[in-house]
Order: sequence, then structure tokens, then C-alpha cells
Amino acid sequence: MATENGTATMNSRLATTTAPRSLKRPHVNESAPSLFRRVQDQFERAAEAIGLSRDVRQILARPMCEVSVTFPVRMDDGRVKMFSGYRVQHNNVLGPFKGGIRYHPDVSLDEVRALAAWMTIKCALVDIPFGGAKGGVQVDPATLSRREVERLTRRFVYALGANIGPGYDVPAPDVNTDARTMAWIVDTYAATLPPQERYRALAVVTGKPVSAGGSVGRDKATGQGVVDFIEMWAADQRSKVADLSYTVQGFGKVGSWAARILKDKGAKLLAVQDVTGAIRSQASEGLDADALAEHVKKTGGVAGFPGAESISEEVFFGTEADVFVPAALENQVTAETAAMLKVRLVAEGANGPTTSEGDAVLHERGIAVIPDVLCNAGGVIVSYFEWLQNRGGTAWNADEVDQRLRQILEHAYARVKEMAAEKSLDWRSAAYAAALRRIEQVYAERGIFP
Ligand code: GLU
Repeated sequence: MATENGTATMNSRLATTTAPRSLKRPHVNESAPSLFRRVQDQFERAAEAIGLSRDVRQILARPMCEVSVTFPVRMDDGRVKMFSGYRVQHNNVLGPFKGGIRYHPDVSLDEVRALAAWMTIKCALVDIPFGGAKGGVQVDPATLSRREVERLTRRFVYALGANIGPGYDVPAPDVNTDARTMAWIVDTYAATLPPQERYRALAVVTGKPVSAGGSVGRDKATGQGVVDFIEMWAADQRSKVADLSYTVQGFGKVGSWAARILKDKGAKLLAVQDVTGAIRSQASEGLDADALAEHVKKTGGVAGFPGAESISEEVFFGTEADVFVPAALENQVTAETAAMLKVRLVAEGANGPTTSEGDAVLHERGIAVIPDVLCNAGGVIVSYFEWLQNRGGTAWNADEVDQRLRQILEHAYARVKEMAAEKSLDWRSAAYAAALRRIEQVYAERGIFP
């Protein structure tokens, strides 16, 4: 089993090996502006650049629907504990709402709103027929047993009721949730349908275990996409991935898959940071991503990896490399940490890793950025493939998945590059602009009821 942003685990405690589980947000203080505000600012900047219609701006400025639930879960000791969960459905003009569900103590309505809006942009940008949504439960799963996490998942799905569905809103894994979580969701959702209709439950979520209706290649998809984009960027610089060195923050699913695929392509991993600390390679060939993934699976984090030296956060951020891959949580690249980076490219595997101030510093320093809505879209693209396979009753092979993924990623990369050149925009704004144009087109054609 593997978590969307975490590593494989067979332990009874679900999240003991999930690297970004409780990565703190040390660089953002209490008075930091809301995450959703940041998204709105990003929308506005891009909307201004392309002269987006006032109507579409207004529609996208707020989510279409916000579901907030409180539900009881029976703990192993027999007592009942109450939990809060959210599902925010930002926009569905392109197709069913789509986006992950995360379990984290910092989950809030504001955070889920922002993440939902990013899904709208992501799906529109890569041109798959989905809208944007996100869900979350405010919980630290590391404090629960596996059985408790299962009961929590089932009660959350029950509380959401008809707010999710195969043709309506399709969740997937995110931070601290995994294929096993998705299997529980299918099972619970199916139980709420009349027996004759249960066959359609499979497509209610994506990111399922392959043996239970998942797609091959979904587990590595986000990391694969990150690597594919780094490869495209390298080609633009007339260089090759094999010649690149890089650092990674977060060695969960996205970070570890990206690192393992980069290893196969010959790139050199210099340093890694996660919730347990930061490490640097002592050997000239860099850190072995496969061995490190094994270590994280066993011990729960990168700290103590044999042959590596432990380093401070400052040294980690100041490591000289070609590429930095943030693959943990939001708000990690701030004005402060962006100023420390000695890289040429930031490839955002996480959602929202860079604050507005961090962005300004990267821009000023001439560090290229492959923005999250583009860079980590591989996951939702293969989710789309899974959903198509479930609905068509077919199964694609690994080559088919990889090829189709690569094709979509290349188109999206070209679209952003073109938009950046056409409007003289940074890549983040260009990605938003391309996505907003796509959404505007649909509204223009469909009109607004009545
Ligand atoms: N949670 C992933 C993301 O942020 C995947 C979402 C999906 O597959 O629906 O993109």
C-alpha cells in the first residue's frame, strides 16, 4: 500500500511511515494571509493578463459548494470521538468535481478551498474533463490505529453521502491517504446504494489498489509527471536529466517516486528533507533513492539513513544543485527560504509549496518555476485514465498509461510555454491564464442558466 504523498507501509499504524504527515509550517506565522486569498490573487493576476470576462472572474472567485461535516468515530478503547471533515467543490463546468482527500491536523476549510480551486485550474490546464474539488479531515492519523483510521474513513464517507458519486464528485488520495483508504471508500459508498446499483460504485474514487479496480501506473503518476517536466525543461536548456543534480523536500509518495525515476535517468540526489530532519549525501554519486525509500518505509523518515550526514534546514535549503523539488506541504518556499536556494529550477511536486513572497524572490533571482498546477498534474491525469477504465470496463497496460500521460503533459507544457511568451508572464501566471481561457470558452459556449 502507498499513500499519495507517503511511502509504502504494512504497519498497523497507518501513517507512521508517511513523511510529510506533520511537516510543520515553520515559515508562516499566525497572521499569514489565508491560502484561499493567495489563490484568488493568483487568479486575478492571470485574469488581468488575458482580459478574462468579469462574469467568469466572479464565478471562479468562490467555490460552488462547501460541505462541512462533524461525525462520530468509535475509538479502540470504546469511547466515541468527534471529527470535522470538509469537501469543497469549487467548479464543475468542465466535468465532475475531482480532487483528493487528505488527513492532517492542519486541515481547515480555508486550506481545502484553496486546494479545490487549484484542482479546477489543474484539470482545465491539462485539458481533462473534470472540475475541481478537495476534501479533508482534521486528524493526525499517526495517533490512530489502522482500525480507527478505517472507521474514520467509513464514517466520513457516510457523512458525505450523496455529495460524492461516480458522475458527480470523484475523490482520490492526497496527504496521508492511500490506495487502501480508497478501497474503504468504494466499499462504504457501495453499501449506501441499492444492491442493483452497486456495480457503479467502483468509479466513485480513483487511486484504488490495482487489484480492486485501480489503474496501473497511478501510484507513481505524480512523481512520473514531475520527472517528465524536469526532462522537458532540461531539453529547453539544451541539457539532459542525466547531467542534473537535485534536492527533494518530502520523501512520501511524490518525492520518493520522483527520486526513484530520476535515479533511473541518471540524475544525482544531493539532499533530502522531511519531517524527521534533513540529510546530505557523503558519497560523490549522491544518495540512493531506492535504498532511501526502503529506509523511510522501515523507520518512518529520512533521518538516520546510513551513509548520509544530518544537516540543518539552512544547509538543506542552501545546497547547490540544478533542481529543487518541494514535495511535501504548502508554504515551504517563503521569502526566507527562497533567498537561500542555490538552484536553477523549482519543480513543484506539492500543492502550494511557494508563498507569494517566495514567488517574488524566485522571480527576482531568476530561478525558473514549474508551477504546482502543471508540475504535479500527472496524478490527476492517471486518475482520469482510471475513471475511464472503470466506466468502460477495461484495463490499460503500463505502456499505454505512460504514453498517454506523456502526451498530455507535453501538450500542457507547450501551452504554458506559449502563453508565457505571448503575454510575457511568469510560468505560474501563464499556467493559470491558459486554464482560465479554457474555462471561459466553455462558459461562453454554454451560457449561464436561465
Ligand atoms: N491529490 C492529487 C492532487 O492534488 C490527485 C487528485 C486526483 O487524482 O483526483 O492532484
